[in-house]
Amino acid sequence: MFKVGITGNIGSGKTTVCKIFEVLGIPVFYADDEAKKVMVKDVILVAGIKKTFGAESYLADGTLNRKHIAGIVFNNEEELVKLNRLVHPAVFRAFEVWVQQFKERKDVPYVLKEAALLFESDSYKMCHRSLMISTPEKMRLQRVMLRDNVSLEEVQKRNSRQMSEEQKLDMANDVIINDDTELVIPQVLNLHKLYLSLAKSE
Ligand code: ATP
Repeated sequence: MFKVGITGNIGSGKTTVCKIFEVLGIPVFYADDEAKKVMVKDVILVAGIKKTFGAESYLADGTLNRKHIAGIVFNNEEELVKLNRLVHPAVFRAFEVWVQQFKERKDVPYVLKEAALLFESDSYKMCHRSLMISTPEKMRLQRVMLRDNVSLEEVQKRNSRQMSEEQKLDMANDVIINDDTELVIPQVLNLHKLYLSLAKSE
């Protein structure tokens, strides 16, 4: 199955672009949503989190003790890296399982994996192609403030934890410009055409 990883910094429009691909019939795996699920249902990961961050990482009903985990990783880069190192392999496993269902489907030419940390987590290496959504920082921050009703300071904090726009642009095979100078849908259609032909010759 031909796989395209899609990424972009916070508020760049990853989800918005994925919705357009979905309209075209392309299934999308949302890695960040999946990360939340595997933290509860992947037994290897649950054991790893308990071992690293303590049994109190889970509540009596088996749900994640978000307060406990957040208390450890918030503002502590080293602990956050530890958590990511545990979670990412579980998300990779979930992605491979998810992809299986489309293997025999003639109507599914390729799939997308949306991941904010596509490059940071090395998961781009599991994809045939990577697509970056590029949006000027000022615009991204403004859009997220509006979408999430949060302060500039809060968005800037989340933004600063990510790899820079330039580094990601260097690594990506393809780019969609999502500012207000270029229409998004024609760019998606062009890439869709490209991915259809690449998937066919794979
Ligand atoms: P995050 O990194 O937080 O997951 P994201 O990259 O998935 O964000 P979106 O949620 O798709 O980004 O977009 C951020 C906000 O910007 C949303 O409110 C979305 O509706 C808006 N947005 C996206 N693209 C455009 C556009 N071309 N014009 C206007 N608003 C846009």
